[in-house]
Amino acid sequence: MEKNFTQETIMALLTRMRVLEILVEGCKKHPAYRAKNEPKADCDMCRKMWRARKQLDETKVVLKGILE
Ligand SMILES: [Zn+2]
Repeated sequence: MEKNFTQETIMALLTRMRVLEILVEGCKKHPAYRAKNEPKADCDMCRKMWRARKQLDETKVVLKGILE
C-alpha cells in the first residue's frame, strides 16, 4: 500500500467523494435514474448526475491500482 499519495491521487479521491455524493442523492423527480446511460429526460439534476458519473469513471483511471 502506497503511503505518500500524489497530489493527483488526492484530487481524484476528493472528486470521487463529491461526485458520489451527487449520485447517492439522486434526482427527486426521476428516482429510478442511476446515471448508467445518458438521461432521456431534459432534467438539470439528471444531467448533473450524468456528468458526475463520467467524472467518477475518469477518477478510476487515475486511481487504478489503489481502488482494487
Ligand atoms: Zn431528473
